[in-house]
Amino acid sequence: MKTAFKKTIGQEKVKQLLARALENGQLSHGYLFEGPAGLGKRKMAKELAAAILCPKEEAPCWHCNACKQVEAGTHAEFRWIQGQEEGKEPVVSVDTIRSLIKDIYLKPYEGEYKVYVVPEADTMTVQAQNALLKTLEEPPDHSIIILATPEPERLLPTILSRCQRLVFRPVKRETIQSYLEESKKMPGDKAASLAAFANGIPDRAVEMLEDESYQQQYKAFIQLTDSMLEKDYEIAIEKGEFMQRDKSQALWVLELWQEWLRDLHILIIGGEPDLLVHQNQENRLRKQAAYYNESTIPMIHQMMETAREDIRTHGNLAFIVESLLINLVSMVKEPDNAKELASFLDR
Ligand SMILES: [Zn+2]
Repeated sequence: MKTAFKKTIGQEKVKQLLARALENGQLSHGYLFEGPAGLGKRKMAKELAAAILCPKEEAPCWHCNACKQVEAGTHAEFRWIQGQEEGKEPVVSVDTIRSLIKDIYLKPYEGEYKVYVVPEADTMTVQAQNALLKTLEEPPDHSIIILATPEPERLLPTILSRCQRLVFRPVKRETIQSYLEESKKMPGDKAASLAAFANGIPDRAVEMLEDESYQQQYKAFIQLTDSMLEKDYEIAIEKGEFMQRDKSQALWVLELWQEWLRDLHILIIGGEPDLLVHQNQENRLRKQAAYYNESTIPMIHQMMETAREDIRTHGNLAFIVESLLINLVSMVKEPDNAKELASFLDR
């Protein structure tokens, strides 16, 4: 058989390794896909499942019944195991894993394999992980378990050592650009700027292109960076209100903002605009750059890093966000070339 993983963008090493294992009939019984969110770990897990279950010579074909059922999540030999809401954050409970284990020892109805995917493996409770461990140690011949997580350190070391670990890495800008040109039919210059924005994470480009709520959040973020220039605490807090929706939202904004600062820094030191992540905002970045000293950028970056850490360790979200914004406003200076800039921007 021949394997062709066409849906996941980039990750050539991972693809090659899995394709070789499939073609030589040497699949592992346990895989761990690790790496930052947005790199295609879930997509790859689905592609691998389809490739395993698809009967065609070149698999996955995405046209046969097996492939379609994997896509729809209805294939009898394919399970996608997600957490249930318990309190605020979804967890994969020990009961869920126990029912998986019960199922895993039953032979497949047809074909050779049964494929189990836990796409957010770090949401397994410790008891759930312990329950899974025994199956990973003595898996039935027909079972393939795929775990995926951005945070492998949240899994038991014994789980990690029982899986073949595949690391997903940021994708080259050119790879994302050609994907956008070919699959999304974008013109070259637009694709280049969106690929820069993706900053190694293909899902970011796709969300920016297709997800209206993502676009709105981004707009709110841009307005927040603009509001800094007014040097007014109340305005900043008002514009930053959307950060307080939930923790993940706040962390997302801070990550973007840190990239934004790197872009400001590049322009302040006269670097190439080609290096910018937010290329489509170059004029705005140039304007804002005049309001910051080069020496304050690392300090602001550090303040944001501290805020992220505080948010992660379950501090009071509203308090952290508001104090950060107040501190940020105090770091903004009067622009030294205001008139020049105004004329530059009017052109
Ligand atoms: Zn197929």
